[in-house]
Amino acid sequence: MEKKYIVAFDQGTTSTRAIIFDKKGSIIAISQKELQQYYPKSGWVEHDASAIFNDQLEAFDNVMSETGIDASEIASIGITNQRETTVVWDKNTGEPIHKAIVWLDKRTTPICDQLKADGLETYVKENTGLVIDSYFSGTKLKWILDEVPGARKRAEAGELLFGTIDSWLIFKLTQGKNHVTDHSNASRTMIYNIKTLSWDEKMLQAMGIPSSMLPHVQESSSDFGSLDYKGIQIPIYGVAGDQQAALFGQGGHQPGMAKNTYGTGCFLLLNTGKEHLVSKNGLLTTLACSVENEKPNYALEGSIFIGGASIQWLRDQLNLIDHAAETEAICTSIPPLEDLYVVPAFAGLGAPYWDAKAKGSIHGITLDIGKKELTKATVEAMAYQTKDVIDAMLEDSGSSIVSLKVDGGASANNYLMQFQSDILNVEVDRPKMLEVTALGAAFLAGIKAGVWTLDSIEEVRERETLFSPTMNQEVRDKKYSGWQSAVERTKSN
Ligand code: ADP
Repeated sequence: MEKKYIVAFDQGTTSTRAIIFDKKGSIIAISQKELQQYYPKSGWVEHDASAIFNDQLEAFDNVMSETGIDASEIASIGITNQRETTVVWDKNTGEPIHKAIVWLDKRTTPICDQLKADGLETYVKENTGLVIDSYFSGTKLKWILDEVPGARKRAEAGELLFGTIDSWLIFKLTQGKNHVTDHSNASRTMIYNIKTLSWDEKMLQAMGIPSSMLPHVQESSSDFGSLDYKGIQIPIYGVAGDQQAALFGQGGHQPGMAKNTYGTGCFLLLNTGKEHLVSKNGLLTTLACSVENEKPNYALEGSIFIGGASIQWLRDQLNLIDHAAETEAICTSIPPLEDLYVVPAFAGLGAPYWDAKAKGSIHGITLDIGKKELTKATVEAMAYQTKDVIDAMLEDSGSSIVSLKVDGGASANNYLMQFQSDILNVEVDRPKMLEVTALGAAFLAGIKAGVWTLDSIEEVRERETLFSPTMNQEVRDKKYSGWQSAVERTKSN
């Protein structure tokens, strides 16, 4: 039968989804399973890797039976996944030897402190693009080898395999035939050298990780094996970590393209091209999605801890609003703010300030300031924080950005998007279809299958609104310098 569809497996922190796309990039069906979180101790977060695999198959079964699409009509599968989450399993039985340790899990902070004490910080930054932090997979893998009885011995005997969720799913989907991952996921492990594009011997030695455990790393759009679905082989042709998949799904495969996901926090990525840059502003360097016969592009990554979460704070702590969506009408109902700034440093100040002890603050309150003004200043803070990170990225890369592609829940706010464009003096481009992470995985899979090309995906991603800057430079400078001085006054010392 004609291969009309591409399927994305979107395995996130809180849910596991299967989505069928047609060749126009439209969604035909979605099925979603919620994922149980395990918190065995304070700061620990685990997932049941076997449940993730079963949920993924079930979600796929659901979309297939709901639509009546035949497996032979599916050109390929693309996988996008929560990044850094670590699984170790028995090579022969395919059974995990421990629950998956989730990216959020902080248990390996002491291991990170030891690596820092061993003087590895500069090496890690220059070779893996990362900072030493429990966030990344390497120390989680070391913890499993150290703490699960007999694990290191079995690993040294070649009996155990390591993978991030993509690797794990592929191993299971291919019935143990393939132990593979892609550049974007490998670059989040802290044991992969993003300069040489190979596993990093020095980091493996520092953590006692046998190289026999590691997956083969290949292009994000390439052949990862196939799923035998009711006797029909469906190839898996795309794999990428969620943030890089979102950049790709936004059409961000060219240098100078940037995306921001406005969710609970905000995640920014800027494609910086073939040159490996080491950030001077505390940003991460990571690998963007790669395609066959091309060297991968690098990307700078920065995150904002408190994005849409500040809107939840307005709603749940201050009771200023009932729903996040009300904020747009409130913002447009009052005149531009004069010198009022909310700095939502509720979890410290992130890039480029890096002040973990800072606490949130409000500056410029006068007698006429009420609920609406506070709401508006909180919305605007998302745009100012985004400018802080983008300016840091531009300083690191010495380049400029073409446009900012946006997605995530708060990108629905038209006032915020226009203000973002005004403050950045850059066009802000919001797509029709906001499922850009899944679409990115589908693009990767569809390119290898010959459904799309790097050029034709540009036409598949449809723009909904382009916000163009209208603010004059004097006003922009005044507002932003007001923000910067509010941040200065928010710092802990
Ligand atoms: P996540 O994937 O992190 O759960 P979402 O992408 O679903 O987040 O976005 C939800 C966040 O966006 C919430 O923090 C919410 O407060 C915020 N949000 C949703 N709609 C709006 C809106 N119209 N204006 C401002 N913020 C919004």
